[in-house]
Amino acid sequence: MNLKQQQYINGEWVDAQSGKKRSIINPYNQEVIAEVPEGDEKDARAAIAAAREAFDEGDWSWTPASERGELVTKIGHLIERDQEELAYLESLDTGKTMEESRGDMEDIAGVFRYYGELADKEGGELIDAPVKDSVSKVVREPVGVCGQITPWNYPLLQASWKLAPALAAGNTLVMKPSEITPLTTIKVFELMEEVGIPAGVVNLVLGSGATVGAELSSHDDVDLISFTGGIATGKKIMQSASGNVKNLALELGGKNPNIIFADADFETAVDQALNGVFFHAGQICSAGTRLIVDEAIHDDFVHALVERVKNFKLGSGFEQDTQMGPLISAEHLAKVEAYVEAGVKEGASLVVGGRRPEDPELQQGFFYLPTIFTNCTTDMTVVQEEGFGPVITVEKFRSEKEAVTLANDSIYGLAGGVWTMDIAKAERCAARMRMGTVWINDFNLYFPHAPWGGFKQSGIGRELGRPGLEEYTETKHIFHNLKPEPIHWF
Ligand code: NAD
Repeated sequence: MNLKQQQYINGEWVDAQSGKKRSIINPYNQEVIAEVPEGDEKDARAAIAAAREAFDEGDWSWTPASERGELVTKIGHLIERDQEELAYLESLDTGKTMEESRGDMEDIAGVFRYYGELADKEGGELIDAPVKDSVSKVVREPVGVCGQITPWNYPLLQASWKLAPALAAGNTLVMKPSEITPLTTIKVFELMEEVGIPAGVVNLVLGSGATVGAELSSHDDVDLISFTGGIATGKKIMQSASGNVKNLALELGGKNPNIIFADADFETAVDQALNGVFFHAGQICSAGTRLIVDEAIHDDFVHALVERVKNFKLGSGFEQDTQMGPLISAEHLAKVEAYVEAGVKEGASLVVGGRRPEDPELQQGFFYLPTIFTNCTTDMTVVQEEGFGPVITVEKFRSEKEAVTLANDSIYGLAGGVWTMDIAKAERCAARMRMGTVWINDFNLYFPHAPWGGFKQSGIGRELGRPGLEEYTETKHIFHNLKPEPIHWF
């Protein structure tokens, strides 16, 4: 593999100080595909010190935003140049199909291009101050040293949402990818070195959440922690970030409702309900795993879903006809199995799937069949908790009000969908759904120009769009008195 299997700290490629390594496993066949350093708190502290020095003493945050933007755009161009290699690494590491990984790489290049362009467009503003002979201006400055922690499901996509805006805004950073999927993130650090990002500005530490992640979120020299991952980890990070009152950006999970009205375009709604869940075997934070279907079409809709699901082709992400790859790990497979068992015990009706496939070719991989539960109610674990696997729950509704009430009955608020040909009904539902993104007659679409993030326990803050850049800035008001005089109050 043509990849530096090392960490990147202060402009140098280094092993873990402890000398420890971690094997990276292909989830399709459990083969070891790489041996990478297993960093710990010491490596994290070295990287934080480098990022601190680069921010406090270096030129990066003073470099004109247009120059920083050009470098960020160039990273996007190199991602396009190396798209095939990056897609290969992503599929090898996550099991997703090459077609999905190629799509991810196009999106990722687009994220770097978007923030490269935006870097010098947010210059601040002059305020018409209610004070004679004065100048009052508001400027946006980088936050400082950013700790960035990413998950395994979209390793490089989630990294790009953090790296591109942080750099465009003039911050320095330490990134920790998921310990099980670090390969494409390592590659992008190679590309950032190639475009000439100065030493110390971007640092990469590999290792577990309990060591490297905890150090980043608790260290006093880190000014902002941006985390994408599960709710339980997000809560821990919030606590450890309180030590020095860090800026906090959390992108957490979702159990996302998809409301299907009887007047929807039936074929398209069925097709997109499947796309909305089964991409990457359901391991998507915004997967529409909670179908809320109009009673009038419920039985036909479920029947159509089941007929399609039965024919899904599971297999290697490198085979042309594979539609769904494996789950990420043995541990995650066991969690999905337990999740489905809980659904059965709680009385949901299992209509398809609910087990591992029997195909002998799939026995080495962490495969799970696409699964559908009907007769679901809001009190069930499978309706309330995120399964993060290829599992749909179906609930019935009788009125528009009931559909929206069900959709909002959740601790999550990441995303949701509504399918209907009635424009006014669609807009009414979208307005009442308590989620960061609502799709009308679509599902799971996102692009760099529009913000992404969750209401309720799905997170704090937004990535992508202008808010995704603002997250990496502090707002400063500078007031200049042009005619200072004594006040004589005291
Ligand atoms: P996770 O929370 O287990 O791990 C995420 C990252 O946090 C990993 O890098 C991990 O090493 C690190 N980590 C673990 N414990 C830590 C600790 N104590 N301190 C600091 N860091 C720690 O999540 P995961 O299983 O990798 O990813 C799946 C989750 O991510 C799902 O819940 C999914 O919904 C969520 N997700 C959300 C979005 C979004 O945009 N909202 C996007 C992708 C994934």
